[in-house]
Amino acid sequence: MKIFNTMTRTKEEFVPINESKVGIYVCGPTVYDYIHIGNARPMIVFDTLRRYLLYKGYDVNYVSNFTDVDDKIIKRALEEGVTSSEISERYIAEAKKDMQDLNVMEATTHPKATEEIPDMIAMVETLIEKGHAYEVNGTVYFRTRSFPGYGKLSKKNIDDLEAGHREIKVAGEEEKEDFLDFVLWKPKKEGEPSWPSPWGEGRPGWHLECSVMSKKYIGDIIDIHAGGEDLIFPHHENEIAQSEAANDVEFARYWMHNAFLKIDGEKMSKSLGNFFTIRDIGEKYPLQVIRFFMLSAHYRSPLNFSDTLVESAKASLERILNAMSRLEEALNTATDREATEEENALLAQFRDYVVKYEAAMEDDLNTADAISVIFEMVKLANSSISSENAKSVIQEVYDTITKLCDILGIITKVETEILDSDIEALIEERQAARKARNFARADEIRDTLAAQGILLEDTREGVKWKRA
Ligand code: AMP
Ligand code: ZN
Repeated sequence: MKIFNTMTRTKEEFVPINESKVGIYVCGPTVYDYIHIGNARPMIVFDTLRRYLLYKGYDVNYVSNFTDVDDKIIKRALEEGVTSSEISERYIAEAKKDMQDLNVMEATTHPKATEEIPDMIAMVETLIEKGHAYEVNGTVYFRTRSFPGYGKLSKKNIDDLEAGHREIKVAGEEEKEDFLDFVLWKPKKEGEPSWPSPWGEGRPGWHLECSVMSKKYIGDIIDIHAGGEDLIFPHHENEIAQSEAANDVEFARYWMHNAFLKIDGEKMSKSLGNFFTIRDIGEKYPLQVIRFFMLSAHYRSPLNFSDTLVESAKASLERILNAMSRLEEALNTATDREATEEENALLAQFRDYVVKYEAAMEDDLNTADAISVIFEMVKLANSSISSENAKSVIQEVYDTITKLCDILGIITKVETEILDSDIEALIEERQAARKARNFARADEIRDTLAAQGILLEDTREGVKWKRA
């Protein structure tokens, strides 16, 4: 598979450190509010990368953090008169609900910054010992110029950065040795969450958590580090500086960054009022439509969010889902027989589409092209598959489209769960049918329920049922 590596600005063949295992670290959201549709883009894109790597047979260790100590969380807590952890726990739970509705697989580990403080302190101590960090009045700074590779990801020249920094002086930071130095640990302010440290009560800087959590849950070297493109500088640049200075090995082999999601062509922001949470959007559209919409563009292209575009994604997705229901119906009435030569030739066409689909995904996760291939398959299925075909042929087409959609996290079979009240009504009807010696109807009801995974047991106390 080829991956566009932000570090080299080229598409490179992906070779994991271990032959069969891939470690992926994705910077997660700061949890001070519901997640917005912009935050959902990296979640969906990199979940799809994970699903594709799983399809290829890799064992994927997927780590994505929740930033649960931050100025925005503290501000929100003060506004509501509750603790910071109440805010962060509330929005972690809400983010997890949204992710589930977007069919984003649960991360192998979802670390929280506040639960990793001892390891963060240990990394700061290592950096101080090695001369890469220093403490002034309870604040620990990273000595940026001590790390020779600074700027290598964002392609920023350290002297240009220095010149830019001189013009924007930040109050309270005169104590720094150099304007380029950034905070690893900051001292406690009244009313803020804090932890004891060798430099006094305080809390970690934002960049530190990702260096520490990726090391702990993946290792010193990560295969793929990902996030939105706004994180390239300074967040990822600072992560590289911290990790490589502390561990003396290359931090991440491949850097992947998704482009931004815009609204009606404009940057999405709270102040412009063009800001939607996943929860808002979920009221208007099934979230599967949003997932499909996001994947219909390449992850490195900016994507515009508008009602018209989402409506069109909805219609496209329905075309796939309708084709799948047709195939399912055909399967129910088709006969079990050998496939004809003509049918085998048709299956060969479908197998060629799988090769095309894989080629698109292998080319830097080109989900847009992969979706086009699914449409070609759907078109072919609509025009050439019916209940006249051999059951095995329909089944293969059905399973293939299901599998390719599943890699994109698109569920093609919408299960409608039978309610307890419906089950009980059917059981009553079955009892009445038996009484009337209408055994055909009684058996039919038993089969209908069995098809939905409901098992009946006739006991002396009456009919009992359970879900299989
Ligand atoms: P944040 O909570 O702002 O740190 O963002 C969490 C993740 O969402 C990061 O990977 C960001 O790059 C990403 N992100 C934030 N806004 C957008 C957007 N409008 N489009 C795409 N990605 C975004
Ligand atoms: Zn990060």
